[in-house]
Amino acid sequence: MIDVEEVRAAILEFVEVLAPVDLPARDALGLVLASEVRSAGPIPPFANTAMDGYAVRASSTAGAGDDAPVRLRVVGELPAGTAPTVPVGDGEAIRIMTGAPMPEGADAVVMVELTRRDGDDGVLVVHEARPGDHVRRAGGDVEAGEVVFGPGTVLGPAHLGVLASIDAGTVRVHPRVRVGVLSTGDELVEAGPLRPGKIRDANRPMLLALLAQAGVEAVNLGIARDDEQTMAATLGDALARCDAVITSGGVSVGDYDYMSAALERIAADDADERARVDWYQVAIRPAKPLCVAFVRGRPVFGLPGNPVSSLVSFELFARPALLTMMGRTDCFRTEVLARAEHAMARKPDGKLHLDRVRVRIEDGAYVVASVGKQESNALAATASANGLVLLPDGDGVAEGDTVKVMLLD
Ligand code: AMP
Ligand code: MG
Repeated sequence: MIDVEEVRAAILEFVEVLAPVDLPARDALGLVLASEVRSAGPIPPFANTAMDGYAVRASSTAGAGDDAPVRLRVVGELPAGTAPTVPVGDGEAIRIMTGAPMPEGADAVVMVELTRRDGDDGVLVVHEARPGDHVRRAGGDVEAGEVVFGPGTVLGPAHLGVLASIDAGTVRVHPRVRVGVLSTGDELVEAGPLRPGKIRDANRPMLLALLAQAGVEAVNLGIARDDEQTMAATLGDALARCDAVITSGGVSVGDYDYMSAALERIAADDADERARVDWYQVAIRPAKPLCVAFVRGRPVFGLPGNPVSSLVSFELFARPALLTMMGRTDCFRTEVLARAEHAMARKPDGKLHLDRVRVRIEDGAYVVASVGKQESNALAATASANGLVLLPDGDGVAEGDTVKVMLLD
């Protein structure tokens, strides 16, 4: 058996970051910038008001107060989206709405709450303004020529907003990795009534969903029968149109477990000397068997068939590798310390146990409780888990003990 960390390190050593491409900024959510982004112009593009009110010369309001209103002559109105046409002179004001450009001559805005209309053309100001009050200067958010985001930035919703506001158009990013998902097993059917001995394929929809959540482009490759030659042919097709492939099933030591043989067959034809197939017995429970190959320049993750094992193996090995290929350096799930709400028993077996748990916050601290059934086929119980508790080899932990948890959301 081999430790999780050793397997992870071996995988991360052979996966490579995908070469950058230019993509429309609106398609780049979750992707990593490969080049810096510079803004040609300032944001905001012009000085404007942060408040609804009156644009004034601050000096015109000298001495204004509740008991000493100052009357200014209203010489215009500026809704957002309009360009000023008249300047503001001494003793004058322009009614102005949030986002509208500051008119020439004005250096402050008095918010509407501190004014009262006075006849058709006047306003009474009850507050002394200082120059700059409620004025958002041009370039206050982003200066012209400024590098707004550097390489390595993971683009989130606000980044996309900024990219639109500076009219970035396209951005240079590491592309979304295209990952094929293949189920294997003669017992598997897609849907409908079951003939004797058959079950429905649970892993493929689950893995496709896990990939979607990871911000990866997932490709549904269907079900392959338990036959080395068909598996090798299906994998060959998949490698021609995907950047990586994830399979489930066929990696244990059963008589019909052909995944590593099929991958060996592909590796044998591979001119690339880096081609390799590694078959591991990882010192964990669940998800002990794992086959990882690097063939035709692409990684293949042969995950175990039991659905819970598939999920855990995906989280531990495939997800970090795929995120790394997309240029992410934060590829691992967050691990935190938590209090065990109840005893979590286990037997010494040389393995790290990854029990599925519900994690919650109580009085500012993490608390974990088992989801119940911990068998590697009990996917229904696992469905409610939002964490994996890492129980080191030994007899488990007592109620109230501190445990390490990997957060899954
Ligand atoms: P295997 O690793 O192929 O021996 O599969 C181990 C167990 O997982 C068996 O009980 C399989 O029937 C089950 N299994 C394999 N693939 C799937 C799948 N896609 N959906 C549900 N169960 C599966
Ligand atoms: Mg099988």
